[in-house]
Amino acid sequence: MKTLNDFNFKDKKAIIRVDFNVPLNDKFEVTDATRIQAAKPTIIKILEDGGSCILMSHLGRPKGKQDEFSLRHIVDEVTEIIGCNVKFVDDCVGEKVEQAAANLESGEILLLENLRFYEEETKGDVTFAEKLSKLGDIYVNDAFGTAHRAHASTTIIAQFFEENKCFGSLLAREIESIDKVLNNSEKPVLAILGGAKVSSKITVIENILDKVDHLIIGGGMSFTFIKAQGGKIGNSICEDDKQELALEILKQAEAKGVQVHIPVDVIAADNFSNDANTQICDINAIPDGWEGVDAGPKSQEIFDGIVNQSKTILWNGPLGVFEMESFAGGTIALGHSIDKATKNGAFSLVGGGDSVAAVKQFGFADKVSYVSTGGGAMLEMLEGKSLPGIEAILK
Ligand code: AMP
Repeated sequence: MKTLNDFNFKDKKAIIRVDFNVPLNDKFEVTDATRIQAAKPTIIKILEDGGSCILMSHLGRPKGKQDEFSLRHIVDEVTEIIGCNVKFVDDCVGEKVEQAAANLESGEILLLENLRFYEEETKGDVTFAEKLSKLGDIYVNDAFGTAHRAHASTTIIAQFFEENKCFGSLLAREIESIDKVLNNSEKPVLAILGGAKVSSKITVIENILDKVDHLIIGGGMSFTFIKAQGGKIGNSICEDDKQELALEILKQAEAKGVQVHIPVDVIAADNFSNDANTQICDINAIPDGWEGVDAGPKSQEIFDGIVNQSKTILWNGPLGVFEMESFAGGTIALGHSIDKATKNGAFSLVGGGDSVAAVKQFGFADKVSYVSTGGGAMLEMLEGKSLPGIEAILK
């Protein structure tokens, strides 16, 4: 696996695919700069070597050139985070851009305009990718969030760099972290899958059954399993057409020697709102008119025990409706358990969408070993798929 350390960037222009798809408010200010901060180590390493950086990214889903999606809006934020001046060119291909890239000196940074102003980007157009490739000497992919897309700047461009291409430090860390969980893990390995639907996680479950010793199935997903086993789930969220599948998963897990843990009790609410009446009940005896919205205290205790005997922990998906304060307790308790296990030497990886939001919101982001930056990309890796953006560098 080629990384930044395989190159000396002195007097070289690195063309770097970063993921600066950051949220902006209505004044076009960056409201969460995590993705820019995540790209900093790569940029700094190249500058310290004596090279220059040409940064390319998408922002949002523009239809053609729309100023609201211009990367011009984030220039100041990038400048502040990286700690040196960032030049901007209001296009990403063409003569003006080639000129700006050619004039770039060692130690300088140039940010290109939104790649998705051209539909050629998402179409993976070879000519467009070749134009981008002409701007730099070495191609660096540091955008995990788009590594599952075969776009021009994430995948197609790599073919124009034969040897001169590598992973940036963020992408390398993402790959290493997932590898540490799926392939080079210290046992016992635990996966915690929560969230709303079985259907969105089914391929992940099937892939990880071969890799884990324990599987916690929590959140809304658990009710499909409980109903399939004959439990009473009241009004809880359930995918009726996935009940057979749920039983099949349990059978497969047993055959593979994976211990599956589903909450034994829940916080049930009489309404899907933060100020609903609540009661604690067994997960398979939820009264009619009530719905399970969070893991109950007995479940939290059991999960704490399992987490603390694990050496490798993967967490994807919340244990309850954590967006509502009243139903965030189970997710927070799990965060504390993982924090404790991590302090005791376990490797913990959090990734894939809502669990990332949860660990950030509740202050666990720097207490786990690694928080993945890519939602869809992370899920595809957990599903066992190879990602085109990663393959293109390895080729
Ligand atoms: P996912 O994107 O599949 O990880 O699902 C995350 C969503 O699942 C969050 O928005 C949670 O509010 C939701 N969720 C978790 N537990 C429950 C539950 N018991 N009932 C309804 N929604 C839930």
